[in-house]
Amino acid sequence: MNEATISALFTALAEKFERCKEQLGELDAAVGDGDHGVSMVRGFEKAKDALNANDPDPQNVGERFGTAGRAFMSGVGGASGPLFAMIFLELGKASAGERELTAGAFKSGLEQATAAVKRLGKAELGDKTMLDVLIPVNESIQDAAELGTALTLAAEIAASSAEQTTQLAARRGRAQHVAGAGAGHPDPGATSLALIFRTFQQVYQESR
Ligand code: ADP
Ligand code: MG
Repeated sequence: MNEATISALFTALAEKFERCKEQLGELDAAVGDGDHGVSMVRGFEKAKDALNANDPDPQNVGERFGTAGRAFMSGVGGASGPLFAMIFLELGKASAGERELTAGAFKSGLEQATAAVKRLGKAELGDKTMLDVLIPVNESIQDAAELGTALTLAAEIAASSAEQTTQLAARRGRAQHVAGAGAGHPDPGATSLALIFRTFQQVYQESR
């Protein structure tokens, strides 16, 4: 996955979240304050604009993820902005100076991102957060030798893991304060992360 495809990824993410904005807002309204869809769109618009504003030629994959991650963080308020940004920032660190995102960099970036999200958010598996997607995805991809295999696995595990957050009661974030702690509704952040991994896989597939 080369530099141009990383830029295409953030353009695709901005479009995908624009289409899913209302659905994500409704999920967040059921368990939180309803801002999640709007926040994510704002973040991905910033990331897309930051990548388009830069001269692409001298940039490497690591810098693109870094640029996107910092712009995303500046665009999103709320608890989830810095946590999602951590995924892009860690993918950037893992692919620093590289012209291609490799399976190895993708795996180590997600490993570091999982640790960073846990450290920053102080949540664990089963707390009904994005970690209920990130942790199983990170575990499932570690044996994948090819980036395509890792991205396909990530998309599939993310979708089923996000679905499974429906039955959980929240112990972190705003959802812990609503009736039933959100049980019966999927977690919005977990749902967004599944959309991110699906888009990642689709954009990679289209680039080949
Ligand atoms: P806010 O809760 O500030 O309104 P968002 O609505 O954008 O932020 O995002 C809510 C999502 O953030 C939740 O669905 C959950 O997945 C994620 N989240 C919230 N708190 C944490 C945390 N401590 N650790 C990991 N993820 C979290
Ligand atoms: Mg919210």
